[in-house]
Amino acid sequence: MAYKERIESDELKLLRSLNNRTVLPSKEKIIYLNLEKGYKGELMFDHLSERLDPKKFLVLNDLRLETNSTNFQIDTFIISQVTQFPCEVKNFEGDYYYESDQFFAMNENEIQNPLDQIKRSDTLLRQVFQKKKYSISLKSNVFFVNPSFTLYQAPLNKPIIYPTQLDKFIDDLNRRPSILNDYHYKIADYLVKEHKTVSPYTRLPPYDYEKLNKGLTCFSCLSFSVKAGETKILCNVCGCMENVENGILRSVRELKLLFPSIKITTNLVYEWCKVIESRKQIRRILKKNYTIIGTRHSTYYI
Ligand SMILES: [Zn+2]
Repeated sequence: MAYKERIESDELKLLRSLNNRTVLPSKEKIIYLNLEKGYKGELMFDHLSERLDPKKFLVLNDLRLETNSTNFQIDTFIISQVTQFPCEVKNFEGDYYYESDQFFAMNENEIQNPLDQIKRSDTLLRQVFQKKKYSISLKSNVFFVNPSFTLYQAPLNKPIIYPTQLDKFIDDLNRRPSILNDYHYKIADYLVKEHKTVSPYTRLPPYDYEKLNKGLTCFSCLSFSVKAGETKILCNVCGCMENVENGILRSVRELKLLFPSIKITTNLVYEWCKVIESRKQIRRILKKNYTIIGTRHSTYYI
């Protein structure tokens, strides 16, 4: 198990919700699809890093850090006895080529060079450790996790791990001797403490409550085509089932994420979920999980 788990960013959750409930402008749609794809790639990498021997390595996923008012992000940070490995994970798919220190997709579009990205985060990370007087040996790499990624004219001796080398990278690490002590845990705890939970880069289009499609959605496939029974919610599309209480609370969390200052009332949740027939059931679940504010006709929940 990772020392710090990866969770979906609010930005991804918000864009996913908006994509499902409205038509995203094309720019935000591209941002959303890239976030979804990047997150999938990170999960693929997590699957690999889970194979690292937990007695020898500490794995910290998704660190958002700041130094001298500059923000940067490390997809995965692996701590071992001697060397620490910042990992930049890329889920690029298809054919790319490398020319004069730049990355291009085959359709000629230049893309941000991931090698520049790790150079930047490597430098910033060194500053973070220098400030704390931690002496650290860093080895940053870019990991391309998508099996259908090809890089033509790939330079040798660049810190790149290709899809076909991923398994070997993990196996080689596991074979190394590595003894962790308090110092390593101190570094890990410091990074977890410094991690910024709120991303400074939320790129959302304007939206308002009235224009969003309402309805409780399937937790798995996001379909609005769900049926609510007494205790279970059943998805007509993928067949997934969810406990009614979980489904309602999940929908309320989504609503609060979209509209942080909205007042959660029984009627609002009734309207938002659409498929829950009983207001009584909604009231009971809100009462059980939130605190009531106000009396009688003007109650809401926090
Ligand atoms: Zn479904």
